[in-house]
Amino acid sequence: MTADRFDHVSTSSRVLFGNGRVDEVTAAVAGAGIHRPFVVATRSSLPLARRVGELVDARPAAVSGDARMHTPVEVTDDHLRRSHDLEADGFVAVGGGSAIGLAKALALRTSVPIVAVPTTYSGSEMTSVWGATENGRKKTGRDPRVTPAYVIYDPELTIHLPHDVAGLSGLNSIAHAVEAIYAPERSPLVALTAAEAIKNMRAGLRSIDAAPGDLDGYARALTGAWLSGVCLAGSTMSLHHKLCHVLGGTFDTPHAATHAFLLPYVLAYNSRSLTAAQRAVIVEALGGGDPCKELVELGATYGAPKTLADLGLRRRDLDVVVEQVPASLSNPRPVEAKGLRQLLDGAFDGAPPEWTRQR
Ligand code: NAD
Repeated sequence: MTADRFDHVSTSSRVLFGNGRVDEVTAAVAGAGIHRPFVVATRSSLPLARRVGELVDARPAAVSGDARMHTPVEVTDDHLRRSHDLEADGFVAVGGGSAIGLAKALALRTSVPIVAVPTTYSGSEMTSVWGATENGRKKTGRDPRVTPAYVIYDPELTIHLPHDVAGLSGLNSIAHAVEAIYAPERSPLVALTAAEAIKNMRAGLRSIDAAPGDLDGYARALTGAWLSGVCLAGSTMSLHHKLCHVLGGTFDTPHAATHAFLLPYVLAYNSRSLTAAQRAVIVEALGGGDPCKELVELGATYGAPKTLADLGLRRRDLDVVVEQVPASLSNPRPVEAKGLRQLLDGAFDGAPPEWTRQR
């Protein structure tokens, strides 16, 4: 593989992968220079967060189960006060992108380190991207201070992930890799990583559905999540991520389900504008057939929404979405209002997304 020109970003996180490696969280916390950790999680990951809190220290560390999706600023403000009271000098995020997002928002304000123990496939743990939602608008930015110092991927922690969370989060992960394949700065390393990410996640999701108790499927999916996170960390995301960002920030749609539903529509929109090489990688990584169909099928297996209305949107909301997507957005196919509206109308009606076979 050759490339005439590319940009590449590597992150400095130390990644510990393998069954049982959560037991190394104490060493990770010490390695990150944290003496008084504050463990943050969402409510449904609270039991796991408490277990990790007990591993971290002889005295259980302070644990919160109040993280919420899309990082509302009021939740961050509340935790900032609590972390000052606790004299916390670092955060341990246990769970999905919501827990990791809260730890990042706190690290952005305090410049203290994070140890992440991800249990979904969001990929946030590998990036320097932070998010914050205030007054119905979601802002994001990049800052190296929010990149976790240590990331512990332990497949055993993910075996009880609810079926829908695993599948929808896995499709969120595939979206990072798909958009990395056609990102403007794509490097040969990211291109290879993205293809492997999609293949691992697809195999993992097929296995989790067919054999829910089989740890190998969860390990494959978590490998895919890590690789997709690496892609996300080093690539500019395009129309798909922008649309999901607008829908999540303005209409509070659930993050992973929005990604899972929309990806085949955006891929269909872009399909004609991809290079032959990009098309070949996407087709092969998604099983060799029609990649849009494969994504729709995977989504259906895991209960993805079938229309934008299922995500709570009304037809008139589509105008608001179109207004928030700038025509200057970097995307393989230029983003113009008419084409975008067609994409959204198709998604609203649940029309099958069509992969264009010929350029
Ligand atoms: P999430 O963190 O809200 O998790 C989804 C659900 O799964 C939650 O109810 C959670 O409690 C539950 N869960 C997680 N682990 C579990 C486990 N082991 N057992 C049982 N239940 C478990 O959702 P998500 O999709 O992982 O993350 C979404 C958030 O992450 C959004 O706010 C999104 O913006 C953000 N995100 C950020 C980045 C970034 O780079 N900054 C990347 C991707 C996603």
